[in-house]
Amino acid sequence: MAVTLKERREMEKFIELLAFSTVKSFYPTAVLKYAQIDSLEAVFDFLIRCVEDGELKLIWEVKCTNDEIICARKLLKVDQKATVLNKNVCCDICGKEFTVTNYDLFPAFEITQEYRDLIREDLKKKKICTWIKLS
Ligand SMILES: [Zn+2]
Repeated sequence: MAVTLKERREMEKFIELLAFSTVKSFYPTAVLKYAQIDSLEAVFDFLIRCVEDGELKLIWEVKCTNDEIICARKLLKVDQKATVLNKNVCCDICGKEFTVTNYDLFPAFEITQEYRDLIREDLKKKKICTWIKLS
């Protein structure tokens, strides 16, 4: 599923904004909403490309999937799914014990420090340029 140029630009803008902010990680759905794209798959494809380019890092969050009370507490954060798959975990909020499966794992993305530094450096330069023009 391909995105339009405008949609891709919106996604890039969102990641640049985040890189400049203090936000540590975000979900693909946040990008979907910001860029107003219909396909989560297209957003995910774009984000995976950013991972390959070194702008983002893919991480996996284990969430408590207690449906009775909709707990949804974030229990763990790992780089590799395999680290937690089939492991037993216990939620410290609702007390549910369960074995981690793919359904308990949710992808999230982190901005890499390298990309964050680049974006902040760019913005600083822009400010200095405006300042030079003004003086
Ligand atoms: Zn829980």
